[in-house]
Amino acid sequence: MTSIPMTSEELSQLLGSGVYALTLVFNHEEMIPVGSLGCLPFRKGCYVYVGSARANLRKRVARHVASTKTVRWHIDYLTARREVTPTSVVVWLSRTECEVATILKKTSDGSVPHFGSSDCRCGSHLIYFASSARRLEAICAISPDVSLALPSGTRGA
Ligand SMILES: [Zn+2]
Repeated sequence: MTSIPMTSEELSQLLGSGVYALTLVFNHEEMIPVGSLGCLPFRKGCYVYVGSARANLRKRVARHVASTKTVRWHIDYLTARREVTPTSVVVWLSRTECEVATILKKTSDGSVPHFGSSDCRCGSHLIYFASSARRLEAICAISPDVSLALPSGTRGA
C-alpha cells in the first residue's frame, strides 16, 4: 500500500468510514477520456472529487494516490495518469457525500457533469475551482475532520 505520512490520531480517524474530498491539480488544459463519459476537457486549476468509503478510508485514499491500478471508477481515469497529481485529501466523519458535493458546488467555478454521480441526483461529484485559494476557502467552510497533504513523492510506480 502507498504510504501517506499521518499522525496516529489521523490514522485512527481514517480506519473507519467517511466522506472525503480529493484535490487534483491541473497545470494546463487537457482532454482526457473518462470511460462512458467520453473525452472531457479539463481546465487549468483544481478539481475536487467527493467520494465516500464504507470502511477503511486510508486504503481508499492510498488507491487514489497510486498511479497503477485497475481502472474501475470515473476518478480512476484521472488518477491513473502521471500528469494528474492528487495534492491533498480532507475527510468528514459525519456528513454525506452528496451533501458535501452540493455545498462545494455552490461556491465553485463549475463542475464536470455526471462525473462520479451515476448513483445519485447531484449532477456531479467533481467540482472545479479556478484557484487553490477558492478551493481552500470552500472546503474550510464545511470544517473537515481530517486534512492531509499528499506529497507527490508518495505516488506509487
Ligand atoms: Zn451525489
